Amino acid sequence: MILIVDDTPENLISLKKVLERHNFEVDTASSGEEALKKVLRNEYVLIILDVQMPGMDGFEVAEAISGYSKARETAILFLSAVNTELKFITKGYSSGGLDYITKPVDMGVLLLKVKTFYRIYEQSRKLIEIQKALLDEIEFRKKAERKKDEFISIASHELKTPLTSVKGYVQLLGRSIEKGDTEMVKKHLVKAQLQLDKLNDLIADLLDISKIESGKLKFNKKQFNLDQVVDNVIEVMHQANPEFHIARNGRVPMEIYGDEMRIEQVIINFLTNAIKYSPGTNNIQVNVQVLDNMLYLGVRDFGIGIDPELQKNVFEKFYRVEETAIHFQGLGIGLYISAEIINRHGGEVGVKSELGQGSEFYFTLPLDVIPEVE
Ligand code: ADP
Repeated sequence: MILIVDDTPENLISLKKVLERHNFEVDTASSGEEALKKVLRNEYVLIILDVQMPGMDGFEVAEAISGYSKARETAILFLSAVNTELKFITKGYSSGGLDYITKPVDMGVLLLKVKTFYRIYEQSRKLIEIQKALLDEIEFRKKAERKKDEFISIASHELKTPLTSVKGYVQLLGRSIEKGDTEMVKKHLVKAQLQLDKLNDLIADLLDISKIESGKLKFNKKQFNLDQVVDNVIEVMHQANPEFHIARNGRVPMEIYGDEMRIEQVIINFLTNAIKYSPGTNNIQVNVQVLDNMLYLGVRDFGIGIDPELQKNVFEKFYRVEETAIHFQGLGIGLYISAEIINRHGGEVGVKSELGQGSEFYFTLPLDVIPEVE
């Protein structure tokens, strides 16, 4: 918007008319004092300022305006009938003004100048926008870099732990073999195998992350029996964690179209977390439901729960709830991978949780999917 400041009403009206005819938005003030008030309230691209006014003259107004942080970028065009000498022009510039025009005003010249100011204003606004976007991008990249560094250090630690255990068990195995203690050999073998499985899972997760990043996570979708998958997973999880009672509510009466191994991976992930984040409890529920052509599968635990404020973050890459991360091992990628798998099946993931009361991690899958043609 342009502000015209002139104590002569005819000048105000005629300038306003010309500028409005050229589609500029115009505001007016009939004294320096009124102009200052308006500049405090509104934002102007350009102020056309009559130099000779009773009360504050144009130069004084310009000087005052240049002190307002809000108006620092505003350009000023002085209008003067008499002060055409160079020293006044210089004075005009030094008090924050940008250009000078003599009265009687040549409307063609005035319009040209106004248009130039607008162009400069638009360009500098764009430059400021670009600068801000660049600064945001730099900040985002720095943050991502920090997160990655942190992740590499956690990942190395997580990989090192089972590896060190396996090394230990292999040494013990050697000694037990020397002693001919077959029972001990079997025990150490089972323990080494368990640690190798852990290592295998960790590496599989890391590979999944890199596949997601490069868009190479592929699915082998076909019709399959989800009920059977759920039963098998519950059985395997119960065998590995016999202290937990995993109850199942509800069944799926139809076959599902999707990648069986990947859907199984999501259920295993939910159950592993339900067990891991529920110390001192021993009940878990798997709730299955079919609603309006949608499958719902939720894994309910009665563990530590998650603060409502933080729940939205848990499906983000590398995210771990800070207060609890030190007490539980993990990389913060299982739920991110699960969300990617479910989203790529047209479903959604979510969590309902209350701090200290437990959580229900769930996913939905559409049941009316038309199988893809290879
Ligand atoms: P990880 O368990 O390896 O840290 P996940 O991606 O599986 O990574 O989970 C991300 C975070 O979400 C966990 O670090 C934990 O803070 C929180 N979380 C996941 N499942 C549960 C749960 N059942 N109860 C409480 N917190 C959970």
